[in-house]
Amino acid sequence: MATIAFIGLGNMGAPMARNLVKAGHALRVVDVVAANAERLAAAGATMAPSAADAVRGAEAVITMLPAGSHVRDVYLGTGGVLAAAAPGTLLVDCSTIDVESARGVEAAAARSGHDFVDAPVSGGTGGAEAGTLTFMCGGSARAFARAQPLLERMGKTIVHAGGPGNGQAAKICNNMILGISMIAVGEAFNLAARLGLDAQKLFDISSKSSGQCWSLTSYCPVPGPVPGSPANRGYAPGFTGAMMLKDLKLAQEAAHAAGVATPLGAAAQALYALYAGSGHAQDDFSGIVRMLAGSKEAKG
Ligand code: NAD
Repeated sequence: MATIAFIGLGNMGAPMARNLVKAGHALRVVDVVAANAERLAAAGATMAPSAADAVRGAEAVITMLPAGSHVRDVYLGTGGVLAAAAPGTLLVDCSTIDVESARGVEAAAARSGHDFVDAPVSGGTGGAEAGTLTFMCGGSARAFARAQPLLERMGKTIVHAGGPGNGQAAKICNNMILGISMIAVGEAFNLAARLGLDAQKLFDISSKSSGQCWSLTSYCPVPGPVPGSPANRGYAPGFTGAMMLKDLKLAQEAAHAAGVATPLGAAAQALYALYAGSGHAQDDFSGIVRMLAGSKEAKG
């Protein structure tokens, strides 16, 4: 069993870290919010006073932070991970961040003699609790082979997407599909309602027809057809509008940098900016169906 430094114990990081403790690993935990680290200490981890203290002598470091700026700061900053880690330490960043930052941190880590994997996740807080996350990994074959056994304690599907940054590339491409498809499904249900077509009937037909997709069959944005979807609990998240907006922005930044036309991705970003900006940043992203319908509840 390994000694692991775990940095960032929010909605996702806390349950992921708990699963590593349950698997018998020795965890040293750090969060800028001390109460988050205290909760993990109560579950069997050891609180470290700083990231540098957590990392010193650890065999692996896992980070689960909000955005690219936090990741750059934690790895590259004064008193950061790269300065404190012993050469040869395995570094795994599970945050969703921009491809450029992931590649920059990997290059700096390689210069310091470390193996770095970008390993963003899909599956949300439910998947983090259940240990069923999907990890999309970028990095060398050696780094991936080292990370895989640890990731298997927190997830069910672990995919090597290619070289450094390719995990982040997979994550933003996937979530661009998700954002666009959720809007498409929402528009279809709103049109059906106006045409006098029952939502359950549209679901029964489209889930067996060419309109079938995850946004329809696993996460239906109207109440009824998929009882577990956020539509059935007033659009409590799940995956927030703010998170979807963040991922769509990352996809647009990457598309601009690569010179690729993604007009539907751009439209989805604009619509989610309206949704999040009108009081729904913390509502589930599927609630955009109400904004598209022009309903009062969606106006904040
Ligand atoms: P969160 O805001 O709940 O957690 C982030 C944690 O990092 C917080 O506890 C914060 O205090 C801590 N933190 C920030 N800066 C720090 C620093 N310098 N040192 C130590 N700790 C620091 O966010 P989350 O929901 O856990 O998401 C984390 C990442 O996972 C994000 O990149 C997000 O996009 C991605 N993600 C989230 C979900 C989801 O459903 N919540 C799903 C997939 C991916």
